Amino acid sequence: MKPILDTAITYLPKVGPKRAELLEKELGVRTFRDLLWQLPYRYVDRTVFHKIGDLQEAGAEVQLRGVLRRVEVSGRGRSRRLTAVLRDSTGSLELVWFRGIDWFADRLMTGREYIVFGRLQRFNNRWSIPHPDIEAVQRNAKPAATLEPVYSSTEKLNQAGVEQKLRRKMMQALLDKLSPEDLPDNLPSYLLEKLKLPSRFLAFRQIHFPASAKELHLAQARFKFEELFFHQLRLLQIKRIRIAKNRGFVFEKVGDYFNRFYRENLPFELTGAQKRVMKEIRRDLGSGRQMNRLLQGDVGSGKTVVALMSMLLAVDNGFQAALMAPTEILAQQHYQSLSKYLQGLGIRMAFLSGSVKGRQRKQILAALAAGDLHFIVGTHALLEESVQFQNLGLAVIDEQHRFGVAQRARLWKKNPRGLPHVLVMTATPIPRTLAMTLYGDLDTSVIDELPPGRKPIKTILWTEHHRLRLFGFLKREIKRGRQVYVVYPLIEKSEKLDLLNLEQGVEAMSREFPAPEYAIAVVHGRMKPADKEREMQRFAKGEADILVATTVIEVGVDVPNASVMVIENAERFGLSQLHQLRGRVGRGAEQSFCILMAGNKLGNDSKKRLQTMVASQDGFKIAEVDLELRGPGDIEGTRQSGLLDFRIANIATDQHILQTARQIAIKILEADPDLQKPEHAVLKSYLDSMAMKVRGWAQIS
Ligand code: ADP
Ligand code: MG
Repeated sequence: MKPILDTAITYLPKVGPKRAELLEKELGVRTFRDLLWQLPYRYVDRTVFHKIGDLQEAGAEVQLRGVLRRVEVSGRGRSRRLTAVLRDSTGSLELVWFRGIDWFADRLMTGREYIVFGRLQRFNNRWSIPHPDIEAVQRNAKPAATLEPVYSSTEKLNQAGVEQKLRRKMMQALLDKLSPEDLPDNLPSYLLEKLKLPSRFLAFRQIHFPASAKELHLAQARFKFEELFFHQLRLLQIKRIRIAKNRGFVFEKVGDYFNRFYRENLPFELTGAQKRVMKEIRRDLGSGRQMNRLLQGDVGSGKTVVALMSMLLAVDNGFQAALMAPTEILAQQHYQSLSKYLQGLGIRMAFLSGSVKGRQRKQILAALAAGDLHFIVGTHALLEESVQFQNLGLAVIDEQHRFGVAQRARLWKKNPRGLPHVLVMTATPIPRTLAMTLYGDLDTSVIDELPPGRKPIKTILWTEHHRLRLFGFLKREIKRGRQVYVVYPLIEKSEKLDLLNLEQGVEAMSREFPAPEYAIAVVHGRMKPADKEREMQRFAKGEADILVATTVIEVGVDVPNASVMVIENAERFGLSQLHQLRGRVGRGAEQSFCILMAGNKLGNDSKKRLQTMVASQDGFKIAEVDLELRGPGDIEGTRQSGLLDFRIANIATDQHILQTARQIAIKILEADPDLQKPEHAVLKSYLDSMAMKVRGWAQIS
């Protein structure tokens, strides 16, 4: 017999073929199961009614009860609208519709009593509510439930009469048809008891029709936990399988290269965080399993030297090491700083990118294949087929986001004798919870401490009023020999306008900072690479005082003499972008500044972003705020991955549940790695059924 959940929704009252078709088209709902999973996106507390006379806060959601006084269509074309006046014993306000005008105009009746729910707006010194939920008060209606579910819907469904009221009726009818056997649990009962969470069957009833806020909270917590728990369980299993399958080269020795570097060449004492991370890496490299480690550390935290020491360990153990960066400039910079660190050690190293050609390229490839080179530093050119190693033992990848998992995997194939260890470095801090979810199968190390003696960067928020002050300030800094970045936003959607802005900015700067007294370099994303490179170099060499640029310098150059970062239209940048940009200064001994130029009128989110920048320089703290403001779906590199498509859990707000879920998953797998205990049979069968369905999971396995 077919499970009842596979039944078509046409078996519910009032759902004929037409409505069923529409429900499928609009919401993807075809079966009982689909419908059950249409969870309310909010609830209306039907016990609380506000008085119009007491309303205070624009933006607040309110429920009102009153009589409609005037229902009127006005305006034409795009300004056509429907307005209605709602009056209660304390005052009146306006309800407004810009869509579905005729449909509502036909149905709303003056003189009738309605219950209205919506978000308050202050307009022309009067309260109004645009597009409220509105429902006529029924004479003999039963007293409403405490919390009434509201389902996401569409204009078309409303027009077809599939309104909230009907949706609730459908859901009630569906729940009445289901018994506990139809919704067996996928969590062991000992776990539910321990966590004090309701069974799946109860949770479905309670999340649709909660009797109280507390009941709702627990039902939601159950589904969030379930979702995050199975996700973690799966990630941990993948990791376990990979560890079992992939044997790694063992770097057991700390040899001459490492020791000589440490004693003779290392120009400073390692920070505590660098030492700790080195220990973690050494433990991996000696463990006999392949290292897959993500190294996070804010800009300037000293990741390069950690990478270098790991690479020296490879050489000490008879292996070669590669360091790969996302751009030519970055790769060059790595090559140069490694050369400096390595002076006199006798490490043979070469640089390879698309621009290395002909005889030189041939020589490098031959030396690499013959084992005459210890290190190779380069761009993704290192991934090409023609690049063969004699014995690659460790690959370091800088800037995770620009490479991606597939490219990482190509590196693994570079040594036919086994899998090279992989160390991924990123300067874009990822909040712990996000890392757990995205890289739950990787090990993570964090350098959470800056080298001593760094002066904090002074961050200032200015508006157009301060423009002259800004120019004066820049002139003083340039007189003192400093260099300045000025960055403009360049966003695809508004590219034309942005480029115009940049042009005008350059003009204004040229007038204010005329040649030959000052020199300005300009770089933007639309320039030819060679021109970009030339302008960048002018700035890097100190020939230009000012670099006016779009965000192309985000992961770009290291110019220690540049001590001022001016960000124009700062409100249009994301937080992590602002933080990355600011990280371009503060690299030398001078006091550095970051000046955020913003408009006078800022939205709440923009304000929060800019205030966070002024208040904090801690990349992790900033990343947390970013996650909070934008939600996980928008964090760079995650959007397409499908890895964060949770139905109900939100890793920004449900961090606590996520942590619990991970801990429990770890414990369960420790005690029962293959989920063979009888009480874990439900886990196993649910995981198996999910593995086939969940988008994104194939990619990480
Ligand atoms: P990241 O790659 O993490 O942004 P780098 O490795 O480029 O940072 O280091 C930034 C600067 O700090 C470099 O000039 C480096 O020489 C210096 N540095 C790194 N570690 C230390 C340390 N422990 N003490 C002092 N200076 C350090
Ligand atoms: Mg770096």
